[in-house]
Amino acid sequence: MNLSRTDHDVFVPDGESLPEALARTTHLCIGAHQDDQEFMAYHGIAVCFGQSDRWFTGVVVTDGGGSVRCGPYAERTNEEMMAIRQHEQRKAAVIGEYACQIQLGYPSRIIKDAKDESTTEDLYQILLATCPETVYLHNPTDKHDTHVATLLRCIAAVRKLPQDARPKLVVGCEVWRSLDWLCDADKVAMDVEPHRNLRAALSGVFDSQIAGGKSYDLAVTGRQAANATFFESHAVDASLALSWCMDLTSLIVDDTLTLEAYALSYIERFQEEVQARIQRFA
Ligand SMILES: [Zn+2]
Repeated sequence: MNLSRTDHDVFVPDGESLPEALARTTHLCIGAHQDDQEFMAYHGIAVCFGQSDRWFTGVVVTDGGGSVRCGPYAERTNEEMMAIRQHEQRKAAVIGEYACQIQLGYPSRIIKDAKDESTTEDLYQILLATCPETVYLHNPTDKHDTHVATLLRCIAAVRKLPQDARPKLVVGCEVWRSLDWLCDADKVAMDVEPHRNLRAALSGVFDSQIAGGKSYDLAVTGRQAANATFFESHAVDASLALSWCMDLTSLIVDDTLTLEAYALSYIERFQEEVQARIQRFA
């Protein structure tokens, strides 16, 4: 791999050679920021944990600059925070026994620039080296600009692969907006109950964000518990923690399908469902 940013960081927790570490990957997450992958793709981390034939690799696209900071981190400079966040992400890779952790180090303005192809090119190289079966991405209805821009670069990168080298399943995950609003038939349920101690350790490692003022650990755990309990009103809870995903595989099977049209089709079905229920009892 020849990644374009000089300040990128590639870390293999168990010391395996980089080509081998990447090639063993079965589950890949590409998230915008440090900690996104632990919150949105814990399912992939958990199914690979302790397995010899399944491995999780995480990719963080941004440099972690400009994050909210207060409390013990209030006096840190932007550069110091970027280094702290990179270090926290490496700690998560050790705890979660990842195959590899890649941090590309892009300022978000470059990712948001549709004419700049460097992010897409880096992601394409990572996809070529890892050939994952399952890929966890941001979802197109997320309300964070960098998340949606990152998703667009990811879809473009997958579409550069020949059809037979593309992943079998690509899902868009919850971060900055829950996917509880999706019609039940459109929800892909990911059971995130297993190894809940691991889940707690992985989210707790991002101290600069949590002690720095954002209680992501509590928020994500609460969302996942709510997803499980509010899924079916007439059935007992099959799991105590679920993540909702949107199936994005159609976008890498049909290269003519736009992300915009695909996202809006979910909203149209949601609109029809709300309308039909009200009309039924009015
Ligand atoms: Zn993020």
